[in-house]
Amino acid sequence: EKLYRIDGWGEPYFSINEAGHVTVSPMGDRGGCIDLFELIHDLKQRNLRLPMLLRFSDILADRIERINSTFAKAIARYNYNGVYRGVYPVKVNQQRQLVEELVEFGKPYQFGLEAGSKPELLIALATLKTPGALLICNGYKDLEYIETALLSQRLGQTPIIVLEQLEEVDLVIQAATKLGIDPILGVRAKLSSKGIGRWEDSAGDRAKFGLSMWEILEVVDRLQAAGLLNSLQLLHFHIGSQISSIGVIKDALKEAGQIYVQLVALNANMKYIDVGGGLGVDYDGSKTNFYASKNYSMQNYAYDVVAAIKEACAAKNIPVPTLVSESGRAIASHQSILIFDVLNTSGVPNSPIEPLAEGEHLIIRNLFETLENINVNNYQEVYHDAAQFKEEAVSLFTFGYLSLRERARVERLYWECCDRILKIVRQQNYVPDDLEDLERIMAHTYYCNFSVFQSAPDSWAIDQLFPIMPIHRLNEEPTCRGTLADLTCDSDGKIDRFIDLRDVKSVLELHPFYHGEPYYLALFLGGAYQEILGDLHNLFGDTDAVHIHMTPRGYQVEHVIKGDSMTEVLQYVQYSREGMLENLRRETERALQAKQITLAEARLLLQNYEHSLSGYTYLS
Ligand code: PLP
Repeated sequence: EKLYRIDGWGEPYFSINEAGHVTVSPMGDRGGCIDLFELIHDLKQRNLRLPMLLRFSDILADRIERINSTFAKAIARYNYNGVYRGVYPVKVNQQRQLVEELVEFGKPYQFGLEAGSKPELLIALATLKTPGALLICNGYKDLEYIETALLSQRLGQTPIIVLEQLEEVDLVIQAATKLGIDPILGVRAKLSSKGIGRWEDSAGDRAKFGLSMWEILEVVDRLQAAGLLNSLQLLHFHIGSQISSIGVIKDALKEAGQIYVQLVALNANMKYIDVGGGLGVDYDGSKTNFYASKNYSMQNYAYDVVAAIKEACAAKNIPVPTLVSESGRAIASHQSILIFDVLNTSGVPNSPIEPLAEGEHLIIRNLFETLENINVNNYQEVYHDAAQFKEEAVSLFTFGYLSLRERARVERLYWECCDRILKIVRQQNYVPDDLEDLERIMAHTYYCNFSVFQSAPDSWAIDQLFPIMPIHRLNEEPTCRGTLADLTCDSDGKIDRFIDLRDVKSVLELHPFYHGEPYYLALFLGGAYQEILGDLHNLFGDTDAVHIHMTPRGYQVEHVIKGDSMTEVLQYVQYSREGMLENLRRETERALQAKQITLAEARLLLQNYEHSLSGYTYLS
């Protein structure tokens, strides 16, 4: 447990049982528990394939319940005379089944949706059926976007069009006048309080979105001139995703609180403040302001939002607004788990070493002597001796003074030295600088049946850390250290950064892999952004996905969403199944005529080709 820090990041959903398997408690301590290893076994019986994405609907429901109850608690604690109306930013994970479930689970709280683009607005309109829930319309907008949002009022929706660019004001005035519909408008402010870390540029003077203070004044003037100042009701800001430090959030809230009261002073009809996203996820379980963690709880966050806005309004004696937040990561991350299997491993050679024979090359004799003398007192200098002998051996080989067999023997002896030195290093409290890299150099590569680019793109693109661990054999000591390589033929298709306490480690503790025995690994907390940012590098497509729902007697498999077939991914790049088959048929016919292939071979080739086209893009 300590190795993988599961009690830090996994609580209250993931833990380890007596069998040494990871378990999932989708309802936290309020409901049943599923053995993940047994679940995978069960799902494979139902013809689901690895890699596989598991979505736990009850975790999603729990996240929604949590964010609403933490705000309810904060509102009660501070006697806040207003309500919380959260929205889910669709961009975080647009999968239909997930958005539909989310809207359903959010009904009791009038939980709404946030659209960041026109297609997301279409999703929101097709899905949101909750009276009183908000539909926050963000992102770049054209006339059609604005008209569609306005017309949705006629269907009973509450769309709030958030102005992010000055040009949008004129479009809104034009559309509202044409349709005779009073818009509900917001402004997105460019705060000077910035987040820190990966998404810090979401705020500040150079931020891509939002209006500076003079632009907000211009919006007020233009709306007033059009007789629409009453429509301006919401202030929005977003200082970036995964804000690790609560101090940054507090600063932003203070600044936004002041903008809000100033807008009231300018006679805008202010009713809402939307604090955007940013609520972090504790990926490494350290509960610190390290970028993969956060130094506050969801409850602290809600307390700070409520307290800061109440304070700003109380100072000016004005009514408090409805509180809106657009938390995506904090709602969607936990519900999904990617399971993938190890296909093979490779590492430094470990075959038995033949004893030293008479007449062997001096360099081999030297390495034997080095190997025999390694101890706690000299391991650091011996490491350098061994490295030098290896370098010399390469030079000798290059000049023709060492045979291939001798060079291979030198390498085997060198790796044996490193292995013994590493065993000593691991027992020390302190790792000398020059040996820091040894762990990584000696690591095994675990070849895994998945694509980083499809299933964990942020790990590649922005070095995001996700908790990764085996889901079984956890009663057995993981005696190997490894990095993960995916199926793509891209040297970036690997994971060699893993969570550590407030740090990153370059190897993961793993078990020896035995051919013929399954070894399953899982990537947790990847439910936000990863699915939609994933791409088809090397044409590895969407994985199979299932929704698991808890029942009083166990669990139920709700939706089974089959991953992409080869035919589907090939269609994205404009290849048609029929065209490809026809092409191969013609080629085999030509080869048959030329007697280059037998009829049986031609039949087998065509059969395999056709079968592959219908098959999974991953290895079976
Ligand atoms: N709102 C806006 C405007 C965003 O750009 C984002 C994403 O960065 C979010 C909400 C969701 O943020 P998070 O996932 O950090 O909650």
